[in-house]
Amino acid sequence: MIKHLAFIFLAIVVSSCHGYAAISSTSFKDIATGKCTVIDLTYPLNKNNAYWPAPSYSPFTYKSVATHKDNGVFSGTYSTPEHLGTHIDAPNHFEDNQPSVDELTLESLIGPASVIDISDKVENNADYELTVEDITDWEKVNGRIRDRSIILLNTGWSRRWNDYEKYKNVDDSNKLRFPGYSADAARFLVEERDINGIGIDTLSADYGISKDFAVHHIINGSSKYILENVANLNKLPPTGATLIIAPIKIEGGSGGQARVWAIMSHH
Ligand SMILES: [Zn+2]
Repeated sequence: MIKHLAFIFLAIVVSSCHGYAAISSTSFKDIATGKCTVIDLTYPLNKNNAYWPAPSYSPFTYKSVATHKDNGVFSGTYSTPEHLGTHIDAPNHFEDNQPSVDELTLESLIGPASVIDISDKVENNADYELTVEDITDWEKVNGRIRDRSIILLNTGWSRRWNDYEKYKNVDDSNKLRFPGYSADAARFLVEERDINGIGIDTLSADYGISKDFAVHHIINGSSKYILENVANLNKLPPTGATLIIAPIKIEGGSGGQARVWAIMSHH
């Protein structure tokens, strides 16, 4: 099994740096020498992290339980909702009888990133929802979405990340106002394309004012996952990056914090 995983990792690095060249150890050199760049799409966990603003959800907390000074060793303990910071929604989050976070296959957590930028449309409309036409327009420029892709929606919302109030953007009638995927776009992605999952740089794949969470039901109902609060999407090209997602392995969990990174070449 360990040999098998090493093979997968090597194959990804090679395919993202040299097309589908033969597997060789030079791919690791490409990372060390900067021919390939690795970009972290994960926000650091701290007490200011955005989380789903519902009752019984709470901020991230951390406290040290041992210090160098008093104990000769430093260690801490923390608590967090699963749906806080950069995290994954497992398929069982919105649908019964779907895989929990520990049951996601490792193969599904690796794939080509297709990055769709709608930040200019969101600029004038915080309630903007990605349309099917946005996707097909993107394909006219970048080619058809590759099989086993992870779709990443760059809405520009990350500019608000350091201010939870601005990030939630609650209006006078207590509604969240931020952009997302439309239900039609989600349906198109699971029915007409072969994707591993989707991601977004906001609190939810459904736009803020959604009441039915249609996108969550469609994606999770197709046994696929959703990444939320993804960082640094503006640093990724539309295609050419390979994504690796490493969620915390909570047995039976509905999701959880995930370290997400992208490997990309400079040519
Ligand atoms: Zn979530």
